[in-house]
Amino acid sequence: YKVLRLILGDQLNLQHSWFLEDSPSTLHVIMEVKSETDYVWHHIQKACAFFAAMENFAETLNSKGFETLYLHLDHENNKQNFSENIQDLIEKFDIEEFQYQLPDEYRLDQEMNALCTKLKISWRCFDSEHFYTSRNELTDFFSGKKEFVMESFYRAMRLKHRILIQNDDKPDGEKWNFDVENRKKLPKNHKPNFPLLFNNDVRKQHGRLLAGKIQTIGNIHPENLQWPINRSQSLELLSYFCKNCLPLFGTFQDAMHTDEWSLYHSRLSFSMNTKLISPKEVVDTALAYWKKDKSIGLNQVEGFIRQILGWREYMRGIYWMKMPEFEKLNYFNHQTKLPEWYWTGNTKMNCLKHSISQSLNFAYAHHIQRLMITGNFALLAGINPDDVDFWYLGIYIDAIQWVEITNTRGMSQYADGGIIGTKPYAATANYIHKMSNYCDDCGYNRQDKTGENSCPFNSLYWDFHDRHRAKLQHNPRLSMVYRIWDKMDAELKASVLQRANYYLENLDTL
Ligand code: FAD
Ligand code: SF4
Repeated sequence: YKVLRLILGDQLNLQHSWFLEDSPSTLHVIMEVKSETDYVWHHIQKACAFFAAMENFAETLNSKGFETLYLHLDHENNKQNFSENIQDLIEKFDIEEFQYQLPDEYRLDQEMNALCTKLKISWRCFDSEHFYTSRNELTDFFSGKKEFVMESFYRAMRLKHRILIQNDDKPDGEKWNFDVENRKKLPKNHKPNFPLLFNNDVRKQHGRLLAGKIQTIGNIHPENLQWPINRSQSLELLSYFCKNCLPLFGTFQDAMHTDEWSLYHSRLSFSMNTKLISPKEVVDTALAYWKKDKSIGLNQVEGFIRQILGWREYMRGIYWMKMPEFEKLNYFNHQTKLPEWYWTGNTKMNCLKHSISQSLNFAYAHHIQRLMITGNFALLAGINPDDVDFWYLGIYIDAIQWVEITNTRGMSQYADGGIIGTKPYAATANYIHKMSNYCDDCGYNRQDKTGENSCPFNSLYWDFHDRHRAKLQHNPRLSMVYRIWDKMDAELKASVLQRANYYLENLDTL
């Protein structure tokens, strides 16, 4: 071979220009390495899904005539990290040029840069050809600006890509956002469609992880992993979503329910984050369904597209604008350890019990569970963002640092001091009750903020705002919060803070 091409585990993009024409003197390599399995405790379903998707991709490439070497975790020559394995292969096959695609993670980008400066042969780096935006497009878009508002970026993306835009450049439906029609609680007796699940046998991959003594979290039935692990399953999930979930996606986007773990969400994040399918394919397919199916409202399709064309591209852009400083940010100087029950779901707080247990069972929770239940609690309780990141980076099927850390440290923990969000996403039981049925059979009382059984979110909410007054009181979006707090009876305030203090000192027992 003359050329060695590295394909990372989240670069399973069959549409990439690498695969448009034959490349007879090229060897492709995909590797399972401990430097990837060990940087965090991954959910066992996530580790298996990655390995299975990677292995599947290698088989597909080989079947199409692209020579691909798949290095198993337990292979005797596996050096367990990319750089050493690549150097080994270059020597073994007398390679003349090394090629790779831009990694999405800062850590791997650094590793590739360091490797290439060491190489004695030539090397080339290619775009991953996955996103709507290039790596630094958002940095350029906001250059000279102090604030990086998602909405302005999203509107520019809509215009640039002519998505839901009329000939006169106005948005379809004359509005950019239909949130007032969306975000409803699930009505009693409303049963969402059953999620489409797959039956992938990942016993071999699971066995290698066990034999390699890789530390993982969560539960699995390795004989039937339910996540899509190849392109055709991902496309099947996409059509299923558009037919069965898109018609009510926006309406119930923020709803939570004890009997449901994914409601009308697409569960396409793993397929997209591994690049089995592209965001453009997802957006175009949703648009095509909306055009032909009158039962899909504009509010549903706009709400869905905003998540992908807006939030997903925005988070990636912010990541590349702000790394590596971003991973150290701790605006509130939060230092508390993550309570033990985040790893087990063993808490009396019903909302957290459900959100965490389903995360352990399915490697999945939807956005509002991540933001307003597990994230909200960690924020109010003052948990160290390093701990919070460690948990989120491992537990979800779609967790990759560029999209995990921006959502966790930024959006949910406000540890970036407001780069991503305009105020902290903090809420009391009022919000949780409004959007879910969790409070109905919880041992805590959602309406109480001082008693022994009072919902911890209530006192912790006020305690959080009181504790961080100096940093938050001048935020115009919080003036109402401080007005209410300041008007509260002094005795009541004291008992709220006392209750919060008790909870903070006994987090592990909640
Ligand atoms: P849907 O609700 O069906 O949305 C469709 C798609 O939109 C998603 O697949 C995703 O690609 C995109 N999307 C939606 N919201 C966001 C967002 N805020 N940022 C970026 N993309 C978004 N997403 C990840 O992919 N990986 C993560 O590690 C991750 N960690 C998160 C941590 C926290 C604390 C929070 C609040 C959110 C996190 N998200 C993460 C964003 C979002 O919650 C998930 O993308 C979504 O829940 C995935 O499920 P879905 O595919 O069913 O999404
Ligand atoms: Fe969660 Fe409080 Fe509601 Fe219980 S009462 S489910 S702890 S919000």
